[in-house]
Amino acid sequence: MAIVEMLHSPARTRDFDRLLLGRCGTVAGVLRNGTLALVALDGADDELPGGVRRWSVHWDDLDIDTTADGWEKLAESYGLGLSGPDREAVYHAVPADWKISLCGKPVRHLSILGWPMPFAPTATRACRACLHLAEQPPHQASVRAS
Ligand SMILES: [Zn+2]
Repeated sequence: MAIVEMLHSPARTRDFDRLLLGRCGTVAGVLRNGTLALVALDGADDELPGGVRRWSVHWDDLDIDTTADGWEKLAESYGLGLSGPDREAVYHAVPADWKISLCGKPVRHLSILGWPMPFAPTATRACRACLHLAEQPPHQASVRAS
C-alpha cells in the first residue's frame, strides 16, 4: 500500500503531504466509522515524517495492490454480509462464523440454498473499509502461503 494523493485526508495529515506522498506502509486500523485508514508507515524510526509512524489517511489517497489474482483469493475467503436498507445496502466482507463484518458492522448474512454468498470485492457497493482490511496480514500472508 502506498500514499499516492493528499486530497481527502485530514488537515493534520495534509500538512505533511510532501513527506508522506509516495510512502509505503500497511493499514493498521480503521478510523471514524471506516472513512479513514490508520496507516503504519514502513521505514526506520529516525526517518519518519515528524517521527510519527501512524497517520490517518483517507482511503482515496491510498493505492492498494489489487491484482485480479488477489481479488479472487479475497472473494474465496469471506462471506457476504449486508448493512443498511436493502436498496442501498453496503456489501461487507464477513469472516466465517463471524456475526460482524471485518469493519465491525453488524450485518445480515446472505445465502443461497444454505450456502453462504461470497464477498465480491469488485461489487460497486463493496465496503471500502472491509476491502482494505481484508488485504492486510495475517490474512494476506496465509493466502500467499497456500
Ligand atoms: Zn465493511
